[in-house]
Amino acid sequence: NSETPAIVIPGLLHPRVAERLKSAFPLVELASGDPALLTQEMKAKVRGIASAGRVDAAFIDALPHLEIIANFGVGYDGVDARHAGARGIMVTNTPDVLTEEVADTAVGLLINTVRELPRAEAWLRDGRWVREGGYRLTPGTLRGRRIGIFGMGRIGLAVARRLEAFGLPIAYHNRRPVNGVAYDYFPTLKQLAAAVDTLVSVAPATPQTEKIVDAGIFEALGANGVFVNVGRGATVDEAALVAALSKGTILAAGLDVFTDEPNVPQALIDLPNASLLPHVASATVHTRQAMADLAADNILSWFSQARRALTPVPETAEVTARV
Ligand code: NDP
Repeated sequence: NSETPAIVIPGLLHPRVAERLKSAFPLVELASGDPALLTQEMKAKVRGIASAGRVDAAFIDALPHLEIIANFGVGYDGVDARHAGARGIMVTNTPDVLTEEVADTAVGLLINTVRELPRAEAWLRDGRWVREGGYRLTPGTLRGRRIGIFGMGRIGLAVARRLEAFGLPIAYHNRRPVNGVAYDYFPTLKQLAAAVDTLVSVAPATPQTEKIVDAGIFEALGANGVFVNVGRGATVDEAALVAALSKGTILAAGLDVFTDEPNVPQALIDLPNASLLPHVASATVHTRQAMADLAADNILSWFSQARRALTPVPETAEVTARV
């Protein structure tokens, strides 16, 4: 296939990806990854996808010459990577370039949650400091807390290093202990939750992690418990979380991610002990540009002489270019 490959961008994507690719490839911008939007000409020419959204099996199968899907983001749960791998199609994500930024946000969200800083700021802005006096002493504190990290991967480790410097003991749960990491390991999430009072989740959304953070986990954390989620909303039973926060099963929660974004349940919005962010953990100009560059570089490298991807996801690590 000597023709210049076309790249399809289904849905919203950081504009820098298209800017980096447009001089090398014809680009096709679509409203979404709906196969019905593909013309015969697109099907004949498209060999790559750059996306920050959903790329399902039907869209993949509608593109007979597809070779690579570059996902903007380290979490690639929106892409059916297993299906792509089975069809010999490369999938890449954007690890490492966002790790420190996301860890910074996780720690900020934890402090906001425990020390009620957004509510204290609202107290000042609403004129209540002048009228009513100082903001209340917070029942929550980081002092004396024991931290449990669910998902001790690249970001989990960056969060752990930060909280270690805060003088807090760290433990974690993964499917496997991490080589060279001295933090206490627990083989189940429930055992971890029972051993700590502060659970920070940086776990990916997979079939195995779906709603794994459930009522039993909140009970295990206990009445002083704090849950922070910067991983994925799909890992949490959101109804059980609302119940745990309302009943005082746990003290508070800080959430950057939700089950059905951008729709956040009104019950969560109404809870004063929930600190809520609109999925902003990596959302700086600096880091989003680095993510855009890595997504574009994966496609540029794949279609260069080198014919290799820079950051393949594990499901497609064995995929190689056909020519
Ligand atoms: P990594 O792959 O480095 O880390 C993921 C960790 O989760 C690994 O340590 C892995 O360990 C563990 N894990 C995976 N599956 C399971 C399971 N079934 N049970 C227990 N542990 C599991 O990824 P990153 O640290 O780079 O990113 C983590 C996630 O953070 C992303 O997948 C993404 O969803 C989320 N994220 C959210 C952002 C935001 O804006 N809020 C921004 C960036 C990332 P093991 O394989 O041993 O189980």
